[in-house]
Amino acid sequence: KDVFQSPDYFAIDELLTEEHRLVRDAVRQWVKKDVSPVIEDYCQQAAFPSHIIQGLGQLGCFGPTIPVEYGGGGLDHIAYGLMMQELERGDSGVRSTASVQGSLVMYPIYTFGSEEQKRKYLPKLASGEMMGCFGLTEPDHGSNPAGMLTHYKEDGDHVILNGAKMWISNAPFADIAVVWAKNEQGEIHGLVVERGMEGFSTPETKGKWSLRASATGELVFDNVRVPKSHILPGVKGLKGPLSCLSSARYGIAWGVVGAAMDCYDTALRYAKERIQFDRPIAGFQLTQKKLAEMITEITKAQLLNWRLGVLKNEGKATPAQVSMAKRNACDIATQIARDARQILGGMGITGEYPIMRHMMNLESVITYEGTHEIHLLITGMDITGLDAFH
Ligand code: FAD
Repeated sequence: KDVFQSPDYFAIDELLTEEHRLVRDAVRQWVKKDVSPVIEDYCQQAAFPSHIIQGLGQLGCFGPTIPVEYGGGGLDHIAYGLMMQELERGDSGVRSTASVQGSLVMYPIYTFGSEEQKRKYLPKLASGEMMGCFGLTEPDHGSNPAGMLTHYKEDGDHVILNGAKMWISNAPFADIAVVWAKNEQGEIHGLVVERGMEGFSTPETKGKWSLRASATGELVFDNVRVPKSHILPGVKGLKGPLSCLSSARYGIAWGVVGAAMDCYDTALRYAKERIQFDRPIAGFQLTQKKLAEMITEITKAQLLNWRLGVLKNEGKATPAQVSMAKRNACDIATQIARDARQILGGMGITGEYPIMRHMMNLESVITYEGTHEIHLLITGMDITGLDAFH
């Protein structure tokens, strides 16, 4: 009974199945019990709450759409989206940990890996016994990953990997890294690099003011000998990493609506209770404008996500549709966090309320997995047929 009731202005719950609601409520309960009470402290200390790994694994948040035979949940994409929404209502860093593991590590191994690679890694990644990270971004190549410098050359039944990746979520504690690198012909391939391989290190990135409860680091490869059997055989070229990103971006579109809901819910309750000039601040037109616009944008984003989920379940969602949903959801969530902060006045900047933490987190989420600008250019290219990137 005391489960959080999310804003549902257009009765979107009626579009969900019984299974969707069960999955969502299970994650919602867990976030309420195991994440929300402690997450502010972890963020203040810039520490990763490692206890969540077991919970995320038990709830099936790692690779929920991966088939059961490989340890996944065998769920549909709407169930996956709802899970991400609930996790991010807790904290974007917690959702990031699950997104990376499911969409950026398990997805490429499942989609492009050999049967042996799938059997070796997927069940352990699903349970959280093994954690992974995804290395695409480099110090000099962010929005333009095609220019990557990380490369490998053949050496018998091994390859020798050199280069560096930057801004890698989960890197400091990951057991494996799915790394995208160029071979001697300049083709991009994915390799599974394991912690402990000589010459492989993962220095932590310190001093972040955003996603402080998510561990971020570099991946440094100094003549790392990787067995050829660790190369993902099923893909070459940029479409490998880009298809992983499309899967993760879909989860982000749902996730940030969760952060927006938490900000809206907090601001609405606060505005009804806070008295100034002898009346609740919720009674002032300027406050109502903010709250009314928040719920309108949340509702629009919820409907867009639900429709995108239906298309994805039918195998019809395009990467450009995912880009639009990710960009829109991050944009509205960032604005909602800022308006919610404003409604709380001075209290809005403290850790007693979740708003400032969401607001700072969203500054990363609007940038990673394709920036706000890049997603706009993807829409632009999709509707005009003209590439404005270069
Ligand atoms: P840049 O590409 O240098 O862009 C800087 C600015 O220029 C942006 O505003 C951008 O929109 C704009 N810009 C660039 N090109 C164009 C253009 N053609 N037209 C118009 N504007 C343009 N990466 C991973 O591989 N794995 C991870 O796990 C991961 N986790 C991350 C976690 C965090 C907390 C953060 C902050 C980043 C993470 N990233 C990860 C990296 C992230 O994906 C990149 O930061 C992002 O792709 C942008 O790259 P950049 O930071 O190098 O910015």
